[in-house]
Amino acid sequence: MGVVPAPTSANEPGVLVVTGASRGIGAACAVLGARAGYRVVVNYARSHDAAMEVVAAIERAGGSAIAVRGDVSKPADVDELFMQTDRHFGRVTALINNAGIGGAIRPIEDHTEETLNELFRTNIYSCIYCAGAAIRRMSPRHGGSGGVIVNISSAAARLGGIQGMVAYAASKGAVDSFTTGLGKEVGKDGIRVVGIRPGMIATDILEPIGGVTLMQATAPTIPLGRVGQAEEIAQAAIWLLSPAASYVHGTTIDVSGGR
Ligand code: NAP
Repeated sequence: MGVVPAPTSANEPGVLVVTGASRGIGAACAVLGARAGYRVVVNYARSHDAAMEVVAAIERAGGSAIAVRGDVSKPADVDELFMQTDRHFGRVTALINNAGIGGAIRPIEDHTEETLNELFRTNIYSCIYCAGAAIRRMSPRHGGSGGVIVNISSAAARLGGIQGMVAYAASKGAVDSFTTGLGKEVGKDGIRVVGIRPGMIATDILEPIGGVTLMQATAPTIPLGRVGQAEEIAQAAIWLLSPAASYVHGTTIDVSGGR
């Protein structure tokens, strides 16, 4: 029996949009994406200088990137993000939905409409808005030629979250459902949809819940005995974007040190 070659055209490095790429996991994805040959859009909400430093690091290494401010929890900002991408680099071919927040840390009965709106708008509405904008450019129904969408979830979606972060865990559970369902909706359009559930990763997002102290306390409970680094999530994300992952679809993988 002959070996059927996997389709590759839609998966060759093209234009990568990374949301929340001014620091942490998103910044690592942007840098590794550029190294893999993508022209990269570094989205951020507030940290302009940090985003410009990510762009500068990519350019110093010979890559191509722009920084675009935009709150991806807002549909108008998402439209502008993808229009700027069109203008600078052309149609997006790869999207990493990474922007996210821990939200208010509190028992579930103390959440308010305001805290939940911010959390769910930033962690799941953003994925839906950005995926919609990307699909309008990737799908053959809209003149595109396919692409890949990676949604950054969390091990919290599976574990239920640490104390005070149940609502965060629920927002990431929604991301996992979105990955599964969207995979069914757009797979035949040549758009792969995949997710990553990171475990505890050393980034700024941990500061409000204890930072280094929390990491030191948690490390012994992780089967690999340590917290992860942003680059370890980025390596998985860039692999998922690549043709090497051409049959990985509609699923979410754990990159969590065994947690
Ligand atoms: P981080 O270091 O706090 O970085 C968050 C990034 O998201 C920043 O670039 C921030 O940009 C951006 N951002 C926040 N709200 C935004 C918005 N409304 N619009 C656009 N950008 C926005 O966090 P991280 O640890 O790298 O987290 C990245 C993703 O991984 C998140 O989805 C998080 O839930 C997930 N995750 C992290 C861990 C972990 O332990 N670190 C574990 C599991 C999952 P500005 O600075 O400009 O606001």
